[in-house]
Amino acid sequence: MKSKLSNQFFRNFLVIFILAILDMVLAFVLLSFASGLIKDSLAKNRYPAGAIIKEDYTQIDASPVVENGGGVQVVDKEYRVVYSKGLDTIGKDKLTAEEFTKFLTESKTRPYHYDILYQPKGEFWLIVTFPTSIRLNFSLVYNKEAAAGDFIRSGLVIAFVVLIYLLILALSAFIYSRITAAGITIPLKKLCDGTRLLREGDYSVRVDLRLKNEFAELQNTFNDMAARIEHEISLRKKSEEDRRRLILDISHDLKNPMSSIQGYAELLMNKKNMHEQECEEHLKIILNNSKRANRLLTELFELSQMDSPEFSLKLSKTDICEYLRQLCGELVPQLEREGFKYEFNIPEDSIFVMLDADRFNRIIQNLANNAMRYNPEGTQVTISLTVQNNRVLIDFSDDGIGIPDHLASNIFKPFVRADDSRNSKTGGSGLGLSIAKRIAKAHGGDLTLLPNTIKGSTFRITIPAI
Ligand code: ADP
Repeated sequence: MKSKLSNQFFRNFLVIFILAILDMVLAFVLLSFASGLIKDSLAKNRYPAGAIIKEDYTQIDASPVVENGGGVQVVDKEYRVVYSKGLDTIGKDKLTAEEFTKFLTESKTRPYHYDILYQPKGEFWLIVTFPTSIRLNFSLVYNKEAAAGDFIRSGLVIAFVVLIYLLILALSAFIYSRITAAGITIPLKKLCDGTRLLREGDYSVRVDLRLKNEFAELQNTFNDMAARIEHEISLRKKSEEDRRRLILDISHDLKNPMSSIQGYAELLMNKKNMHEQECEEHLKIILNNSKRANRLLTELFELSQMDSPEFSLKLSKTDICEYLRQLCGELVPQLEREGFKYEFNIPEDSIFVMLDADRFNRIIQNLANNAMRYNPEGTQVTISLTVQNNRVLIDFSDDGIGIPDHLASNIFKPFVRADDSRNSKTGGSGLGLSIAKRIAKAHGGDLTLLPNTIKGSTFRITIPAI
């Protein structure tokens, strides 16, 4: 790609350089054409020496020359300036033969136009001088009568100069094309390398061009795209990992009650003369395990229902204070039966929220069950409601055993439990808090575990007030 682009640039620059030369030549042609057009209007051409010369220099009328800013001098054969009117560039009354020769030879290089004529009869030189307005000395002069050798030598020098000129032109076009192409090919190469790495699966790749032009825009778009892909891939990996873990946990959690049911059912079938009491105990175990499996499946169903796009809440405008007071009242007999202390701080005001009462009930019930299930008798349970920044905060706290720090960040993930012995009596499914959090989120709020609780744990339900 690099060579193709720089070749393209090289061709373009050569064309541009050649066009520039042609333009320059055309400009000279136009300039000489234009100077031909104005030739007759210039003072130097209107009053040449031939037009005013007289045999007797005293008869010369220098006034039109002087009026047009010029000057007239007459130098006799002794190189004396015997007549001078207007502009005088000789500056002396008497010249030596050497000085006069120098004056004549250098007249072409001065910023004056000199028209010099010799009058043989009067034996003097008439010099008409005009200051040059603007002069461009560019002319090709040749004479057919020159010696052939001189022609060849001069021709070779000119050809050599033209060749060198063309070579320099081609070299500059080449270098310039390389430099210009590099301004495109280098960032392009970096972007191509980045894209290739991305294609090969390196999503952490980012391009840094240190440019501020359009390539910088392309670079930012590329980096944004790479960042998004990286984020999406990590999300996908995480959800894949979560899904894998979920299936593993489900099968693990179902395996124990199911094999227990199977084992005891087989025992009941095979052991003929079983004592009635023993038989009843076995049946009780079967019942408990089937209840456990059933609960797990019900909660799993609930969880997956909430993840489905069809899941929606039946919201209605509810006074949350009134609603929570009612729920707390229903909790009291349960808390007292289990030997728990309780305190409710719910304002007497009416604060309205949009609520699916049945689903929201599930959150409070889950938090209350957890508090009672995982904490010892005598634990204090406190439920308080406050409003902050138009959000209702319901803090559900207990001063019980608390949640270990290492679990705090994962406690809302399915199947996460502090006591991971899946057979233990206290061990629930580990799905309750995940379901509760999803319900809170579906209400536009959240369920979080407040950090740094001195004793026990505090769960906070947030829900927008209306
Ligand atoms: P489970 O069905 O196991 O109760 P949850 O998602 O409701 O599932 O709870 C997850 C885990 O969090 C529980 O197994 C328990 O270890 C811990 N936990 C929840 N609430 C409390 C609490 N109030 N005090 C101590 N531990 C708790």
